[in-house]
Amino acid sequence: MTQQRSTAEWQALGREHLLAPFSDYKQLGAKGARIVTKASGVYLWDSEGHKILDGMAGLWCVNVGYGRRELADAAHRQMLELPYYNLFFQTAHPPAIELAAAIAEIAPPGMQHVFFTGSGSEANDTVLRLVRHYWAIKGMPSKKVIIGRINGYHGSTVAGASLGGMAAMHAQGDLPIPGIEHIAQPYWYGESGAMDPHAFGEWAANELEKKILEVGEDNVAAFIAEPIQGAGGVIIPPDSYWPRVRQILAKYAILFVADEVICGFGRTGEWFGSQYYGLEPDLMPIAKGLTSGYIPMGGVIVRDHVAQTLAEGGEFYHGYTYSGHPVAAAVALENIRILREEKIVERVKQETAPYLQKRWQELSDHPLVGEARGLGMLGALELVRDKKTRARFEGGIGMRCREHCFRNGLIMRAVGDTMIVSPPLVITPEQIDELVSLARKCLDATAAELRG
Ligand code: PMP
Repeated sequence: MTQQRSTAEWQALGREHLLAPFSDYKQLGAKGARIVTKASGVYLWDSEGHKILDGMAGLWCVNVGYGRRELADAAHRQMLELPYYNLFFQTAHPPAIELAAAIAEIAPPGMQHVFFTGSGSEANDTVLRLVRHYWAIKGMPSKKVIIGRINGYHGSTVAGASLGGMAAMHAQGDLPIPGIEHIAQPYWYGESGAMDPHAFGEWAANELEKKILEVGEDNVAAFIAEPIQGAGGVIIPPDSYWPRVRQILAKYAILFVADEVICGFGRTGEWFGSQYYGLEPDLMPIAKGLTSGYIPMGGVIVRDHVAQTLAEGGEFYHGYTYSGHPVAAAVALENIRILREEKIVERVKQETAPYLQKRWQELSDHPLVGEARGLGMLGALELVRDKKTRARFEGGIGMRCREHCFRNGLIMRAVGDTMIVSPPLVITPEQIDELVSLARKCLDATAAELRG
């Protein structure tokens, strides 16, 4: 147990010693972090005793909800049995092998192998090294370029941030690294101009073909994309996008990487977002929902032909101390057991996602909401000054809205002026009602602040 301190004491101690991720240290130091102390189900409690509905499932990861004793027990048992061993140099252990087999059972057909990592970022570093290695084994070492998308997110390591298309991240430290190209994103609400969704989806997909031809098929290793962009603002492509991308991928010899770090493990109502859209990726980076965030773990699921090629390539000089960590693997196995036995993914598809989407749409009548969109257990609200022109508020209002959410007991994330949710998959219809009415209350409070 950590020591009991007051909120102010924790904030001061954090200010003195803790460098938090994605934070403006001066601003955070002045304001003080909100200290979260415990959680159960879909709720968090802060150090002041406030109960907060976690509309983001942590960082899109706590799929089975907080407080599942079975996951703690699995970790405890495994720590006593074998707390650590590695998979390097011709050793293995039961939890990693069992987990790889369990993932192969739920993965799309023909994707029977997994490389384990410690996180989603490490999964995408693995992707970068693996696809280049793959083409070298095939005798085509010039195929090195990976095409990603502007405003895509693939992690925060050098490769992850380079594959991603976040301008602010690229601006710090000369990213992306060479050999990575970015194309437009299928963000209809934000970037379509006068195009209707169908035409815009096809246009955005055609950007892939344009880029392949520009770089030269002989130089392109892979295309990487999230089925639905998460961190970019829950960007759900128009219906025409993925079918057209599939046609393009069928024409060229390049690998397709579907980053399932957010969409994987049930978020869309299917086990993987690729299945929702009928995609057939060659590689699927995973993390987050793999362990429901209870312990760090990621991986890359690979299609059989990729695994077969790797088997012909001699040693793959790549891996992490914690690849397939036995305690993480034991927790992931138990998490997958819970998801399967409690039919959580099926319930999302049949009951709770349709209900969330129905209720979420009701928010589109709010004066601040230019668009309410969602899919599965994902939702987004575009906050605008003018619904007709989609003009935004000067200076932005997303962070102000987020403050009202915190104050009213709801966590919604702000991506610029797009408010997003991604609740635990176990959220009940009653809790969805609560989420939607809290969201409306926070929108009202934001509108009142703007008037005042
Ligand atoms: N890919 C996607 C699609 C993600 O959303 C994230 C994390 N938000 C990552 C990769 C990186 O994962 P991690 O933070 O575990 O390194």
